[in-house]
Amino acid sequence: MNKYLTRQEYCLGVRCPGLLWTLYNRPDTLSPYSERNVINMHNREAARLYTSSVSGVVTVMEKSIDEAAESTKRALRDGVLDIAGATFISGALSAECDLIRRRSDGTYALYIVRAAAHIRQTVCHDASYQVFVLATQGIRVSRVFFVKLNTCYVKGQSDERELFLLENISSRVAALVAGVAGRARGMLSAASKKEMPSQPVHNGCFNPSDCENKATCFACLPEDNVFTFSGVSHETKFKLYRRHKYTFEDMMSEGVLSPLQKKQMEMYLKGAPPAVDKDNLKKFLSGLRYPMCYLDFETMQLPFPPFEGLRPFEPCAFQFSLHIRESEGGPLKHISCIAKPGEDPRRRIAEELCRHIPENACVAAYNMQLEKMMVLSLAERFPDLCKRLMGIASNIVDMMRPFEKRWYYDGKMKGACSLKAVLHALYPDEKELDYALLEGVHNGQEATTVYAAMSAEPETFPNREEVLRELESYCALDTLALVKLHEKLLSAVSDR
Ligand code: SF4
Repeated sequence: MNKYLTRQEYCLGVRCPGLLWTLYNRPDTLSPYSERNVINMHNREAARLYTSSVSGVVTVMEKSIDEAAESTKRALRDGVLDIAGATFISGALSAECDLIRRRSDGTYALYIVRAAAHIRQTVCHDASYQVFVLATQGIRVSRVFFVKLNTCYVKGQSDERELFLLENISSRVAALVAGVAGRARGMLSAASKKEMPSQPVHNGCFNPSDCENKATCFACLPEDNVFTFSGVSHETKFKLYRRHKYTFEDMMSEGVLSPLQKKQMEMYLKGAPPAVDKDNLKKFLSGLRYPMCYLDFETMQLPFPPFEGLRPFEPCAFQFSLHIRESEGGPLKHISCIAKPGEDPRRRIAEELCRHIPENACVAAYNMQLEKMMVLSLAERFPDLCKRLMGIASNIVDMMRPFEKRWYYDGKMKGACSLKAVLHALYPDEKELDYALLEGVHNGQEATTVYAAMSAEPETFPNREEVLRELESYCALDTLALVKLHEKLLSAVSDR
């Protein structure tokens, strides 16, 4: 089978030639459950949904790019006007278009369908690549439409046709077409090299999310490098990096830190003991009472709302972990609840919360907005459980507050106050609290991604039970972390 550069690979190469090189030469080092793969899966589904809603469309669906290109040629020869999956080949480049529609003047409109609500530059690069490949095959594109998701659409309430909106992006795309040939040539040449092209750290390493290759590419930097200290803008960090200023000491000497950050950095470099604002911390802790519950949700935010009443990307909890301590010094109980992938989890989650959280219990969550929002939306959905759920929501306390407010600051937090950063700083040597040692799922993004993939394509998960167990272990560690942080704060204000 011939190998061509695809539009997805072109977009990857625009982000970073090093990433494309890895995909070509070391695909086994990239996770099959990366956010990129899940986005591609959702984009395929978006194209299928949109094109199936357009009447008269002929869909090209073949096993190989060569066969699809032949089918497309035949469809064009037969005078088909609207083709989904139309595929074109130009030398080493191939473009499989979501949809092309012939216009009355003989030119074509190109539709780029994405499981996204907003345009990103990568959509314009994707479109420009297709326009270029089509032009080499004598197909002139005079209009380009970005087909995006309508976030006002509500499953079960809106008309199905309202799920997508169209945005004309022709002029933005036209500005990029001239650069396609050179870019594609450069990418293919880089991808054919024996070694990964050396690539400086750049914006694409962090955007749209952390690159899958970061561990490899950042290995040449010191462990404590400018990118690992929080609270300083990426712009400042890039400036330092470009001047070969990589270390925390460089950050101190270059005068880029605010007075507070400087103090935090000094604490880290000197290994100073934690700074504790006992008065404020005592006030905060006096608001926590037994029975104490420690709650964490994992949510999915799917582009195509799977259940009635949801909008595109609206979070929906599919799992929670709950640690409960009935009285001070009492035993710790753990409850885990995870819904079957593909099933509406909301009723089960709501009932289990009401069943296990004692009436009037104090509920600690970390960065509590999500937990509060989830419980309130369940309360709205299930009137029979509304009072209990509203009670739970009103008792949620944010365990992040003392760390965010710096009432407890440990230099090892390196300016951050995320749950993982704080836990690692406060318990650096406890193996049972090390997310890196978990099997399979290590962070919230992986949890959401794997669950979404399992719901959409269950047949690709023969090890489903094992993955569900990994998800439960991950979520359980999040709430055990809350228990441990609470203990640490109590001991920090204790006079013993
Ligand atoms: S980490 Fe950065 S340099 Fe490395 S492959 Fe990813 S985007 Fe490229």
